[in-house]
Amino acid sequence: MYETERKELVEILRSKGISNQRVLDAFLKVERHLFVPDIMKQHAYKDVALPIGLGQTISQPYTVAYMTQEIDPQPKQKILEIGTGSGYQAAILYELGGRVFSIERHNDLYNSAMKMFDKLNLKIAARCSDGTIGWDEFSPYDGIIVTAGGPTVPINLKKQLSVGGRLVIPVGDKQVQTLQIITKISEDEFQTNEVPYFAFVPLIGKEGWKEK
Ligand code: SAM
Repeated sequence: MYETERKELVEILRSKGISNQRVLDAFLKVERHLFVPDIMKQHAYKDVALPIGLGQTISQPYTVAYMTQEIDPQPKQKILEIGTGSGYQAAILYELGGRVFSIERHNDLYNSAMKMFDKLNLKIAARCSDGTIGWDEFSPYDGIIVTAGGPTVPINLKKQLSVGGRLVIPVGDKQVQTLQIITKISEDEFQTNEVPYFAFVPLIGKEGWKEK
């Protein structure tokens, strides 16, 4: 279903500068319409963020592709995602062969993402908790993707990254963020590149924004 729409979306992503063919192939394969509410299905292959309930969104495909391309997960690498949401980003990472760990703070979103992972037989480890403190048990991770914007980079996420690994996280105020692409050079050395003008929902937690 929606094969033509997926091909068209991939062409849009390519025209916007996504060049990693493995990433584009994952977008051809993973069915985004399964991760959006029924009334949104006809918009599933537009390059826009869509509401998934509880004031949260499934990110814009371009943003998912951009962040995935920056991490460039290789088969069997351990990838941690903060902000499972619909589960779509996690499914893309899994399609690329990653061993995916994902954390969501909203119980309802966590439950429906888990159901979809089960239905699609995706072996993704997920839990419902505050992702700003990471998931120490399975660290270090080759890549960490944070899909919500925080005021600073959580220290635990930097700690739980392997040397040579990459952390991609939007940092800024609640309206607009800069995407920080952080490479761990050694245990205490990091190199950061910044890409401006992203807009994510807030990262709420111990090392994020405080809930009102
Ligand atoms: N990756 C998601 C997808 O593919 O649908 C995008 C989800 S949305 C842009 C960001 C998610 O981060 C929301 O579901 C929100 O509840 C979650 N979130 C915010 N702060 C969090 C935290 N501290 N720990 C875990 N999840 C968090």
